[in-house]
Amino acid sequence: MPLNTMRVTDLHGVGPKTADRLKFLKINTVEDLIYYLPREHEDLSLITKIKEINNDGKYTVLGKIERLANRRSFKSRLTITEASLKDETGAIKITWFNQPYIKDTLKIGDTVMLSGLVKQTKYGLQFNSPAYEKIQNRQPTVHVGRLVPKYPLTWGITQKQIRYFIKQSLARVLPLADYLPKEILEKYRLLSLSAALQKIHFPTDNHDFNQAQARLNFDELLILQLFSQKFRQALKKQIAPSLQFQETEIKKFVDNLPFTLTETQKKSAWEILQDLQKTHPMNRLLIGDVGCGKTVVAAMAILNTALNQKQAALMVPTEILAKQHYAYLKKILPKNISVSLWTAGTKTNLTASVVVGTHALIQKNVRFKNLGLAIVDEQHRFGVTQRQNLKKYGNQKKLMPHLLSMTATPIPRTLALASYGDLDLSIITELPKGRKPIITKVVKAAKRDLSYQFIKEHVQKKEQVFVLCPLIEESDQLGVRAVNQEYEKLHQEIFPYLRLAKLHGQMKMQEKEKIMRQMQKQEIDILIATSVIEVGIDIKNATIMLIEGAERFGLASLHQFRGRIGRSDKQAFCFLFTNSSSAKTNERLGCLVKSQNGFALAEADLKLRGAGEIYGTNQSGFSKYAIMAWENPQLLLKAKEAAKIILQKNLLTTHPLLKKKLAIFIKNIHLE
Ligand code: ADP
Ligand code: MG
Repeated sequence: MPLNTMRVTDLHGVGPKTADRLKFLKINTVEDLIYYLPREHEDLSLITKIKEINNDGKYTVLGKIERLANRRSFKSRLTITEASLKDETGAIKITWFNQPYIKDTLKIGDTVMLSGLVKQTKYGLQFNSPAYEKIQNRQPTVHVGRLVPKYPLTWGITQKQIRYFIKQSLARVLPLADYLPKEILEKYRLLSLSAALQKIHFPTDNHDFNQAQARLNFDELLILQLFSQKFRQALKKQIAPSLQFQETEIKKFVDNLPFTLTETQKKSAWEILQDLQKTHPMNRLLIGDVGCGKTVVAAMAILNTALNQKQAALMVPTEILAKQHYAYLKKILPKNISVSLWTAGTKTNLTASVVVGTHALIQKNVRFKNLGLAIVDEQHRFGVTQRQNLKKYGNQKKLMPHLLSMTATPIPRTLALASYGDLDLSIITELPKGRKPIITKVVKAAKRDLSYQFIKEHVQKKEQVFVLCPLIEESDQLGVRAVNQEYEKLHQEIFPYLRLAKLHGQMKMQEKEKIMRQMQKQEIDILIATSVIEVGIDIKNATIMLIEGAERFGLASLHQFRGRIGRSDKQAFCFLFTNSSSAKTNERLGCLVKSQNGFALAEADLKLRGAGEIYGTNQSGFSKYAIMAWENPQLLLKAKEAAKIILQKNLLTTHPLLKKKLAIFIKNIHLE
């Protein structure tokens, strides 16, 4: 049976209820299960003789059950299972709480392995609710006595269950046909797919696990590289209008700016203007920290396009940002260049030289006269399909416009290359001179009131404040404040006389934009929000950013939030509220206090948090490819080389499984 049609309900122990819960983990098929990777492995491989257990601690033992009985505890109304296990050196007591079924799962005389905490009690040393596994027919163990995989869970699913399901899945589907060509496997000494899948879950030792991880990561990087290289080839075959560099006019524009461009702004602009002259479409990503001045670089490309009698479109995620960019371009571009706005709410005209808008720009009915350049702000990657749409709706059947994407996610070059191999990169690495650094402070619970006092004083001076709360997930038990709670508290107790408002992801787009407009018009003093506050929005008068539960965010995200203030000549302040006093949190948040450089902070975050924490969860803000490349740059180089070989030798045609894998990847990228 094909792998992706085997449902989880075909497995032993998965009824409709369990299947529903697995859906929360995005597990629907047996294939999803075997690719559901462990967060970490716990080393329970060392087996201790019972006689050698002298102290409290975590132990694994192997022996025979010699006593087993349930009793009720009247005080707590729990069922307590009491047992004892014996090996050739001695015996030890075990208690399990509220798992009465254990009495029927295990029998006296069974050979059992236990792992768990041993504690000194008044009855001597005892295991307290250990993990257990019956040893049968010399089968390798799954839950104890080995490197035991630990998975991200959801309510109602236990580690034991998920291990059991994955073990069954592996037994059913392995060995699998390998989609990688044999010569690639041999050249890079990679494990077979079957071995890798087995060992990523149930490795015998760390070396095993590392090899399995290397193989699976290689595959991911390889597929991305295949996509990138193929896409690059395809673009080279497309024809774009060659836009000549209008040197005199561009120079005049730059000379008239109220500031001088930074070195990397100049370099980026030059790279873009070079690309625009070519006859195949540019596909470039402009990366630069918040506030580094990407818009003015975009404006140079826009002006150059208009001077070539072609249209330029600038697309942004929201209406309010569209209006901001529209106003900015109108202000800085020469008066004879016509600029118009095109959003769901405001549809002026599509014949202007420059059209600024939202995604409404790529709807079906939109037709440009002669689009030469499309720019997408605050988005890393413009979908391949959307790109096709630009061409289709650009009303110029043969010509493909040049494309420039811009993002404020600071990501080191090597990592960017891993994530966006299909794009050429320009990076603005410095902020304009003379910017006042945002004064950043870590605030412990005891000092909250001082910050609130500080805020009051600044609001009196007509300045504005953001209060940012981390999102609450269902499983959240950390007592982090939700926007609603925080709003009520601040409104009732702390700032009863100030104008407060809230903003979160559950609000409609129009509501959110309305609030942001009020904020811009200074009708709100304090805005309490989740991380939905947009990137790129200019609230010049906002000088204070207060972040609740700061330890829960990655440094890169915190830096992004901080970038939403400090956009004028007024001194800005960022308060990082945390109740955590761990050394790690202090060190991490300390980085923000010391540095205003997004790239440096991104690297520090990767270093400080390391693979373990980032693996699987990805709260870092980096793509998984970036993290893989960071951890193993060699692997990225190999994947690049392998992709080249595969395309050169046309191996996709002889390896349909690989071809299919690539097709699925491309389909998903379209949906991004
Ligand atoms: P971002 O890269 O975050 O999109 P913007 O393009 O919005 O940043 O620029 C932020 C502000 O900095 C704008 O007001 C812009 O005019 C200004 N700016 C851009 N470049 C420079 C420069 N070289 N020197 C001084 N100010 C600049
Ligand atoms: Mg911007």
